[in-house]
Amino acid sequence: MKLIIASNNMGKIREYKDIFEPFGFEVFSQGEENICIEVEETGSTFEENAMLKARAVCDKAHCCVISDDSGLEVEALGGEPGLYSARYKGLETEHERRLAVLKGLEGSDNRRARFVTCICFIDGAGEEHLFTGTWNGEIAAKEEGTNGFGYDPIFISEDGNGKTTASLPLSFKETYSHRAKAVRELISWLQRR
Ligand code: IMP
Repeated sequence: MKLIIASNNMGKIREYKDIFEPFGFEVFSQGEENICIEVEETGSTFEENAMLKARAVCDKAHCCVISDDSGLEVEALGGEPGLYSARYKGLETEHERRLAVLKGLEGSDNRRARFVTCICFIDGAGEEHLFTGTWNGEIAAKEEGTNGFGYDPIFISEDGNGKTTASLPLSFKETYSHRAKAVRELISWLQRR
């Protein structure tokens, strides 16, 4: 059965190909299928945005589709950057966005935060299936480490021994991250189908 990944991110495309091909899916990226749509992420949750993106591609391609949406929620910032993690405060670079989070927490004792990923899979019958993973932690006092991307240099996960995610080997995220948890849920559901 044909499956399209509603993303142009090469890392995600590779990861989803590796997951789905062993289950007999013929996996293609949105680009390989010449589907050029920029879906407006107007949902009010990660789940809604993941569904919006998957549904838009499914409406064009009429086959199975997978998409996801992720972000960082900081408790003392009322859940920000949240849905706007990739474009927080309209800032251009990841470094600027991390500094904005650190600045927002100046003087705050509460540094609790979590990453969230929601994966939406639309099956051959057009039904949506959602898989969510969360990763609890706190925001560091300053940036540290060069591994990973996005907010990794300021995120200390509850299982990270006080180190930022960017200071730990990449294999650490493969086991503990929000995305790893959502992917494990998805795989275990595929195995039960
Ligand atoms: P996306 O929806 O997976 O593209 O993620 C949106 C944004 O959330 C990214 O641009 C990052 O800023 C942030 N983000 C998501 N996952 C991670 C992560 O694992 N580490 C650091 N930042 C992340």
